[in-house]
Amino acid sequence: MAYFTTKTSPGRHFLQIPGPSNVPDRVLRALDNPTMDHRGPDFGKLGGQILEKIKGVFNTQSHVIIYPASGTGAWEAALVNTLSPGDRVLMCETGWFASLWREMAERLALRPEFLQGDWRRGAEPSEIEAYLRADKAHEIKAVAVVHNETSTGCTSRIAEVRKAIDAAGHPALLLVDTISSLGSVDYRHDEWGVDVTVAGSQKGLMLPPGLSFNAVSAKALKASETAKLTRSFWDWKPMIASNATGFFPYTPATNMLYALDTALDMLFEEGMENVFARHDRMAEATRRAVRAWGLEIQCQEPGHYSPVLTAVRVPEGHSANGLRATILEKFNMSLGNGLGQLNDKVFRIGHLGDVGELHMVGTLSGVEMGLRAAGIPHKPDGVKAAMDYIAGNA
Ligand SMILES: *Cc1c(COP(=O)(O)O)cnc(C)c1O
Repeated sequence: MAYFTTKTSPGRHFLQIPGPSNVPDRVLRALDNPTMDHRGPDFGKLGGQILEKIKGVFNTQSHVIIYPASGTGAWEAALVNTLSPGDRVLMCETGWFASLWREMAERLALRPEFLQGDWRRGAEPSEIEAYLRADKAHEIKAVAVVHNETSTGCTSRIAEVRKAIDAAGHPALLLVDTISSLGSVDYRHDEWGVDVTVAGSQKGLMLPPGLSFNAVSAKALKASETAKLTRSFWDWKPMIASNATGFFPYTPATNMLYALDTALDMLFEEGMENVFARHDRMAEATRRAVRAWGLEIQCQEPGHYSPVLTAVRVPEGHSANGLRATILEKFNMSLGNGLGQLNDKVFRIGHLGDVGELHMVGTLSGVEMGLRAAGIPHKPDGVKAAMDYIAGNA
């Protein structure tokens, strides 16, 4: 059957939502290999190689667990492997995804406590420190932070969160959601003392949806020995035991592992430093366009600007969803919608993954033409501002 039935225009669809991101042809070709016996000798070699290679993107020497699941599964895995019913967990309200993770913690019979936020900045390390200092009995068992809040385009400073926990002298585990940042934003699981890093395949890693990850510190592993939340599918223990020989306790997503292997090669061939610099460049070009249009960036703290996406507020009385519908219909491009309280108030421009200069200018051109077509008040020359920046920096 035809999958894209609403779009008739020729040329490539621009998938500029902040995940799933565009999948490079080389990764699609890797997917298109015959599925192999996941208990056979070739698989052990492949599995072992990937489990080793993936550590480079987390900057860890510890175990990385690969689940055949979306990011939400790896969220659950992080909680159920380390915590017990009734445990207090400190979470930070950075936006929609942080709120969903908190709800999940509640459903799992944990006691999440939410540091309130206004969805316009990242987590505040000094507030975390103050909260932990007040917990003299050390009842809080974990601090959970979303590194890149995909609903708002605000990034939290994880190294500083680590320092805040240490400054408070608190033993809580640090759990970090990097589902939309891993592979796009500098990240150091070991150096920053993160206990569980949660990641997904379909954003910075340039893969289709379907894989998710837990990078696990020695401290987290130790916690998992006494953690009492019920777990079965997500249990780290049988995973780590099978992974020792390159295998998995249940059927892995074989073809997605071919794709992962290829995507990791692509990232390392480009060089992670270059990948991060490219994301910074695309993000800056986007923000210059937004400012030139006279529109407002959802993130209010320049130090928290996301290299992954930019959420843009439409003027009062105008519809962000109407704009997105116009752009999809006229220009064959998908932009991210406003989530939760931001529904219809913002649209999100993804500039992550397999995105180069011309692709970025094309994306911004689609937005600018869409603003005009949808009758949203704006100044012209946003694309020109982006081009001037890119031309001077490319
Ligand atoms: C996408 C995303 C999720 C949810 O991941 P799924 O793959 O949709 O389950 C969670 N957190 C963040 C920050 C995300 O960007």
